[in-house]
Amino acid sequence: MASAVKVYLRTRPTDNVQGSFTLQPDGKSVAIQVKKTDKPRGTGHINNTADTIKFRFDDILLDASQETIFGTCAADVCDNVLTGYNGTIFAYGQTGAGKTYTMSGDVSAAYNQRGIVPRAIHHLFHESELRGDKEIEVRVSHLEIYNDVMYDLLADDVTQADNLQIVDRIDDPRFPETFAAGTGARETVIKGLTKKYCANEAEALAYFFAGEANRATASHILNKTSSRSHCIFTVYLESRGVGDSSEKTTVAKLNLVDLAGSERVKKTSVSGQQLKEANFINRSLTFLEQTVNALARFGQDNVDPHVSARQSKLTHILRDSLGGNCRTTLIACLWPDVEHADETVSTCRFASRVM
Ligand code: ADP
Ligand code: MG
Repeated sequence: MASAVKVYLRTRPTDNVQGSFTLQPDGKSVAIQVKKTDKPRGTGHINNTADTIKFRFDDILLDASQETIFGTCAADVCDNVLTGYNGTIFAYGQTGAGKTYTMSGDVSAAYNQRGIVPRAIHHLFHESELRGDKEIEVRVSHLEIYNDVMYDLLADDVTQADNLQIVDRIDDPRFPETFAAGTGARETVIKGLTKKYCANEAEALAYFFAGEANRATASHILNKTSSRSHCIFTVYLESRGVGDSSEKTTVAKLNLVDLAGSERVKKTSVSGQQLKEANFINRSLTFLEQTVNALARFGQDNVDPHVSARQSKLTHILRDSLGGNCRTTLIACLWPDVEHADETVSTCRFASRVM
């Protein structure tokens, strides 16, 4: 059986790669040669041995265009959502590795620099129009998780945090039509979260950018850096057969997740706030790995009893959109610079563990 989780590697351009770090794509595996920097390590000894480590991924995209990334990593997940299955796309990696570029794109640059979110919105509206056999209703939400606290980025006051609550709906006969196919009779909803109805692509895009702007504003007010928070932009797609009132309505959602920077901070060199942030990020990324693995292995209805998605907000929210018939894609963003050799290896390790 094909794995429900697909993992791709993407590198960002960098000048400083020569001689220290090489990626050698060989089919679908990558050999990473890391010549350790000759800077003194924490222990004071100098390590200049070259280590070659091999990893396998679904595909390795070296300096790929935004269009290639969407086509390879995201288009299928969107198509699955159009047929009624939940999907989730994550961008993972250290700060500066290109997560936001991958998900949002460079909005100040040329049109072809737009990332997965705008392309996914276009794809969903465009494809459903082409298919023509269904009427769709689109809603979007935009959520930030910082230190395991949720912020509604489409709310009037984005700095207010305590009004959101995650609710699991399991076998609730009042909402039989709201369960996406393949996820079992189970749905995760966030009570209090703003969901905006979008008549067209332009409206959905406008809400996405409004949320991004609110994220920046809230960061400023609450004195937090956006690279230390997770962001989940969700598109909810409700579809109904045209002219056929008897046909069941399906609801599926696409979660587009810009994860917090995965870099490890040295405990001795950061302040209280940074250490707190780092601990929350580490915890949530560890739970993410465990949850993805458990749901991929056991399916939605038979989850590994040792792993609870409720351990962090990130996994709890995405509980109904990982594993089973849901499509889960992780894009591991690499910054293959000599300075970042350790983080590059660590990103590859994480990525290979969730496959
Ligand atoms: P992250 O969100 O992981 O911290 P960013 O997406 O903000 O990283 O990327 C850091 C910088 O590198 C940004 O200026 C971004 O535009 C640029 N960048 C990242 N990936 C690419 C890429 N594939 N092509 C061109 N520029 C990129
Ligand atoms: Mg970012």
